Amino acid sequence: MNTNFINREYIEDLLENAKYTDDAGISRSLDKAEQGKTLDIKEIASLLRTGNPLHIGRIFEIAGKIKKRIYGNRIVIFAPLYVSNYCVNGCAYCSFNRSHNFNRSKLTMEQLREEVKILEMMGHKRLALEAGEHDELCSIDYILECIKTIYDMKFENGEIRRINVNIAATSTENYRKLKNAKIGTYILFQETYNEAAYNRAHPAGPKKDFLWHLSAFDRAQEAGIDDVGGGILFGLSDPYFDVMGLLLHNEHLEKKYNTGFHTISVPRLCPALGMNINDFPNLVDDETFAKIVAIIRIAVPFTGMILSTRENSQLRKKLLQLGISQISAGSNTEVGGYAQASSERHTHKQNEHHPQFIVNDERSAVSIISELIDDNFIPSFCTACYRDGRTGDRFMSLAKSGEIGNVCLPNALMTLCEYSMDYGNDIFREKTSAIIEKEIPNIANEKIRQKTIESVEKIRLGAGRDFYV
Ligand code: SAM
Ligand code: SF4
Repeated sequence: MNTNFINREYIEDLLENAKYTDDAGISRSLDKAEQGKTLDIKEIASLLRTGNPLHIGRIFEIAGKIKKRIYGNRIVIFAPLYVSNYCVNGCAYCSFNRSHNFNRSKLTMEQLREEVKILEMMGHKRLALEAGEHDELCSIDYILECIKTIYDMKFENGEIRRINVNIAATSTENYRKLKNAKIGTYILFQETYNEAAYNRAHPAGPKKDFLWHLSAFDRAQEAGIDDVGGGILFGLSDPYFDVMGLLLHNEHLEKKYNTGFHTISVPRLCPALGMNINDFPNLVDDETFAKIVAIIRIAVPFTGMILSTRENSQLRKKLLQLGISQISAGSNTEVGGYAQASSERHTHKQNEHHPQFIVNDERSAVSIISELIDDNFIPSFCTACYRDGRTGDRFMSLAKSGEIGNVCLPNALMTLCEYSMDYGNDIFREKTSAIIEKEIPNIANEKIRQKTIESVEKIRLGAGRDFYV
């Protein structure tokens, strides 16, 4: 079923013709976007191509408004969990590349429990499970065992309620196993939609097969996984081409399965062991990156957008206003990294490290969360949709109906309240209370508002927890 819906010439023509869209044409598209209408792929190409500061200013403004209208000021929090760095692939940008010589490992179930315990002590409820590709040393059965172990664990008040999985493209049969293991989103970055650039960056291993990788979500959908998350690794190719490819991929999924991407991740290439970042001529600067985030927000208003600790705190703040709806906090990109960092804090001894890439925001989860509140965001630990079966087109129709505010806002407030009671000190709890009180009146549905008030009260009194609507 390897149909290639990425037509290079078609995308190049769109981007070439977009150069000739006049100012009035771009303004018309922006007016449309401002009125909440969907832009077609030609219009998106024109937005990507424009260098006019007035248009770019409007792109930022409209993206900000869409973000506010659909997501309010909620930001979903998650953490990555690396379980294995064995890898048979030769990705030119990754420190886990098979030709790199270092002591590889995967977590034993005991080590995994240790990592999860630390993540639960940070208050995390949602993880992205990450692994290199290795059918023998990191088989699907191993991944399934990890998922089961994590879901079965509960440490004090902590529990992981949703595990998103970011593992290599695999077979329909394996996707069926992941579906049965009750994963959240299946995440896979296409890295680049430019086949020539893809081939250069992936010279060896199964990932080398562009079409196998590109058709992974079709296999996942066939296996019943209707919650998939795409992404581009910015820096491998022309970013505008890649955004067009990503949106055509989304269109393909929408047409065929009635649901596009649940999330889009926007990682940017960062330094890693065994690669030289200067060998990559297509690195994307901050300004272009912000413009791209804003254009994706305009193009697919209802798709969550994920940013990781690859980006520093200042840029993250700006991108949160423009469209990002999920961020990682307190992240570690190393196998066993959470336990190692914690033991180093206690013993002051530095061990040998081999992260997948170097993170740019090294602050702890609680300081990132605290800063989000200071900046008037509502950090959310909600996992309700997934637990209630609101995935795929059910989630999309909820989002498009405008009802999302009556669901996500109360859930964000209740989970934040729980987090503050479990992990915060008095100052943090005061800060959290203030934002909760301020936001409760914004829940439009009276019954749900009332339920939220009662649940928050119960959480504060220790009379109940894990409430959601
Ligand atoms: N091994 C699987 C794969 O490659 O699809 C699963 C996920 S891999 C652990 C997660 C992602 O890390 C990759 O898809 C890639 O985009 C990203 N990555 C690898 N090296 C990176 C780097 N130097 N900078 C930023 N992101 C990187
Ligand atoms: Fe392996 Fe994934 Fe790294 Fe490629 S990006 S080397 S597949 S871990």
